[in-house]
Amino acid sequence: MNYCSRCGERLSLEIPTGDDRFRSVCRSCSTIHYENPKIVLGAIPVFDDQILLCKRGIEPHYGLWTIPSGFMENGESVEEGAIRETIEEANAEIQILRLQTVYSIPQINQVHVIFLANLLNSNFFPGTESLETRLFALAEIPWNHLAFEAIRFALRSYLYDKDISDGRVHIGTYGMGSEGPQMV
Ligand SMILES: [Zn+2]
Repeated sequence: MNYCSRCGERLSLEIPTGDDRFRSVCRSCSTIHYENPKIVLGAIPVFDDQILLCKRGIEPHYGLWTIPSGFMENGESVEEGAIRETIEEANAEIQILRLQTVYSIPQINQVHVIFLANLLNSNFFPGTESLETRLFALAEIPWNHLAFEAIRFALRSYLYDKDISDGRVHIGTYGMGSEGPQMV
């Protein structure tokens, strides 16, 4: 950010009084423009012991598979966002069961919040951002063609829970390979 979104003046990078890091500060109107991580919401839609995945029709990772997920919008809850993304990407109706994973990616300032969900019927079809939507049996999950590490972590944790379910939320961080559930 170079210019103040409030008054249009050029911003300067400085550490505000009482703060401990650099912020974009407007000396004209005194606004401090805080930049914080973005939240990505997603769902693992399960139907008949199969998982609904979407083949991405947009960059990044065009052509790779993902669960329905995307950036949280203003004015919605995390559950509502996961449901909305599932409709947008797969025209699929889900019912949220529980929180599955919270996955931090400090390198790009994102937090991925993924829910476990029931897929209510099989009347899904690709949304505008998807090339294809289909159900995968657990043994068919295309591990080598998944779009994001956060998705891989979520799906691994789901498989982990199939064996050892203690109902806990799996918490992971990108780059911390030994954290969280291990690959089955
Ligand atoms: Zn300003």
